[in-house]
Amino acid sequence: MQRATYCRRSPRKGHNLEVGIRSVCAVSDPLFVPYLPLSAIALTPSAARTLQPLVAAGATLWVPPALMPLPDARPYEEPFGAWLAAQWLQQRAFVFAMATGAVVRAIAPLLSNKSSDPPVVVVDRAGQFALGLCGSHAGGGNRLTRLVANYLGAVPVLTDAAADADLPSVDVLGVPFGWHRGNGNWTAVSAAGARSEPIRVWQSAGSHLWREQLPDDHPFVFATDAATAPLAPEAAGKPIAELWIDAVEREFPPETAAVQWHPRVLWIGIGCERGTPQALLESALARVLAERGLTAEAIAGVATLDLKADEPGLRSFCRDRDLPLQVFAPEVLQAVPVPNPSEVVAEAVGTPSVAEAAALQAAGDGAELLVPKQIERGEGGAATIAIAQAVYEFTGRSGRLYLVGIGPGATAQVTPAARAALQQADVLVGYARYLDCVAPLRRPGQIVEPYPIGAELERARRAIALAEWGLTVAVVSSGDAGIYGIGGVVMEELRQLGWDGREPAVEIFPGITALQSAAARVGTPLMHDFCAISLSDLLTPWSAIAARLEAAASADFVTALYNPQSRDRKRPFAAACEIFMRYRDPETPVAIVRNALRKDERVYRTQLDRLEDAPVDMVCTVIIGNRSTQFYGDWMLTPRGYLGFGADENTPADD
Ligand code: SAH
Repeated sequence: MQRATYCRRSPRKGHNLEVGIRSVCAVSDPLFVPYLPLSAIALTPSAARTLQPLVAAGATLWVPPALMPLPDARPYEEPFGAWLAAQWLQQRAFVFAMATGAVVRAIAPLLSNKSSDPPVVVVDRAGQFALGLCGSHAGGGNRLTRLVANYLGAVPVLTDAAADADLPSVDVLGVPFGWHRGNGNWTAVSAAGARSEPIRVWQSAGSHLWREQLPDDHPFVFATDAATAPLAPEAAGKPIAELWIDAVEREFPPETAAVQWHPRVLWIGIGCERGTPQALLESALARVLAERGLTAEAIAGVATLDLKADEPGLRSFCRDRDLPLQVFAPEVLQAVPVPNPSEVVAEAVGTPSVAEAAALQAAGDGAELLVPKQIERGEGGAATIAIAQAVYEFTGRSGRLYLVGIGPGATAQVTPAARAALQQADVLVGYARYLDCVAPLRRPGQIVEPYPIGAELERARRAIALAEWGLTVAVVSSGDAGIYGIGGVVMEELRQLGWDGREPAVEIFPGITALQSAAARVGTPLMHDFCAISLSDLLTPWSAIAARLEAAASADFVTALYNPQSRDRKRPFAAACEIFMRYRDPETPVAIVRNALRKDERVYRTQLDRLEDAPVDMVCTVIIGNRSTQFYGDWMLTPRGYLGFGADENTPADD
C-alpha cells in the first residue's frame, strides 16, 4: 500500500462544538476551492445572470460599473484592460461570459506560459457551452471547464488532444502526485501522444499509479533498460518521443522530442554549525546536486536534528525554496543505521549522525542514501549535507476525501454535485459494480481502484492512505454514502487514526438512498412518518434489531427494510414479518422493490401476511405501509394525515 512518508500534522484533540463552524467553511462549493479566488466576468445583464450561480460556488462576479446595481455583482474598475492585468496576477482562474474573440484580445497581452497561466473558461451568454480556452492542462483548466459546465448545466467544450482519448495527458500525469515538470519539448511529446505515436518511458522514481489504468492502445513503451526496451515495429529505427521520470538534471538537445517529470523524492539531510548562513547552505546544496547530476526540482524537503529547528540560515533556506523542514530527536536519529557515523558528533548532540540519519528517516521505509554526507566549510560556518531518495514521493498537496453517493445505479440519478465530485477526483475507490455504474461519467486519466464486495474496511483504509498522501479521492457508495454506506466506514476509520477533522479534508455528496428510489417506483408510501431498519445482524446484535422492529411496528411507522434477506440469512426476515403481523393488519400493503432504477428492476406488491413467502433478497428494499397506507391500482399511497383515525385533518405537507 502506498503510504505517505511525510509527517501528518499531529491530531488536534478535543471536540469543537461551536455552532456553525462547518457552515463558515461552506461559503463556497468545496469543489471550487482549488480554483479560488476565481473571477467571473460578464459585460451584459443576461451574461451576468448566466454566471450568477458561480457566486454561490465562491466566485466573484464582475460587471461594468454602468450595469450596477446587479444582484451579487461587483463593478470592475475602468479601464478594463488595466483592471484585468491586475486581476490576472491575483486570481487563480477566470470565467468570462463574453464573445470569445473579445476574451482572446483581452487576455493576449497577459499570457506568458502554458504551465503558469491561470485557466480561462468562456461561457456563451445563454450558458449552453463552457469552452476551455487556455491554461487548460497544466493549470487544471480542463477540470475547471467540466466543473463550470456541470454547475451551469452547460456542455463542456474541450479542444485539446488529450480530452478525447482515454489517456492521461503527458503534461498533466504527474500533477496528482505533486511532480515538477522539468525541461524538455513538451509540445512535441504531447503531439506524439496525440498522434498515438510511441513514447518511450524511463521511470526510476515516483508512483506507478498513473500507469495502472492505461487503455490497451496507449502509446507508452516502458523501458527498464534503455537498450532493451521493446518498440512497436513501425517505430523501430525512427527517433521516438521520450518521457523521463526521475530526479536527474538533464538537458535535451532542442530538436529532440523528450521531456522529464521530477517526482519529489529527494530528502536533504542537513547538519550545520550554529549560525551557518543561508548562502553557505545554498552553495553546498548546489555543489552536491551538480556533482551528482540531481535536480533541485526533485527535492521533497529538508531534514535535521530538533536542536537545529531554530537555525535562522536553515529556516530561511527552507522558506525561500518553499520546502518543508522535518526535525527529529537525537534518539530517533541514533537508531538509523548510516554508513558514516561520527563519535565526535555523537558526543556533541547525542546521535552519531545528523545529515545521513535525518535524510533517511525523513525519506521513510525503503529509502536509499544517494549521497553520503559531504562537508562544506565557508565563511561563517560549516554544513554537512546528505541526500536520501524516498520510495514514495512527497506530493506537497493537501488530500481530500469525497464521500459520494451515486444513487441507485442509473447515471441519470446521480446528482450534478456528485457527478462533479467524481470528475474532479484524482482517484475513484469503490465496489467494482458501483464504479462500473459511473464509468461513463469518468474523466480520462483518472486512477480507478475497484474492490470486491464486502471489502469495506480495506477500501476505506486505502482511500484514507491516498488522501493523506495528498490525492483527491472519491469514495463511491450506492445510494447515499452516509446511509448504511461506505461513508460511515471512512469516517470511523479516520476517527480511529486520530484525524484532526481537517486534514485530509472531507466532503460529503448526498445521493438518493434506496428507500427513496423504491418509494418512487411504487407511489408515495413515505408521506407520513417512516423509518429504515437494516436486517443485517453482521455487526448489530439481533436483540437490538428485534427491539427496533417491535418499536417501529407498534408505533405505526411506515418501515423500509434494508438488507432484508440473503441466501444464508433468512431468520431475521421471517422474524420481522412475524413482529409486524403482531401489530398490523394482515392486509397492510407492502412493496418489494428489487434493483430500483437499475436495468433489471422488479416491483412486487403484496400484503403483510404474504410477505414471508415473497421473493426478497439483498438487492431489494421492502416498504411496509402504516395502518392508513393503501394500494390504488398499481400505486401505494400513504395519506399525509391519519384521516379517519381521529388525527388533525390539516396536517401540512411540504410540496
Ligand atoms: N447506501 C445505500 C444502502 C446500502 S445497504 C443507500 O443509501 O441506498 C444495501 C441495501 O440497500 C440492500 O441490501 C438493499 O436493501 C438496499 N438497496 C440498495 N440499492 C438498492 C436498489 N437499487 N434497489 C433496491 N434496494 C436497494
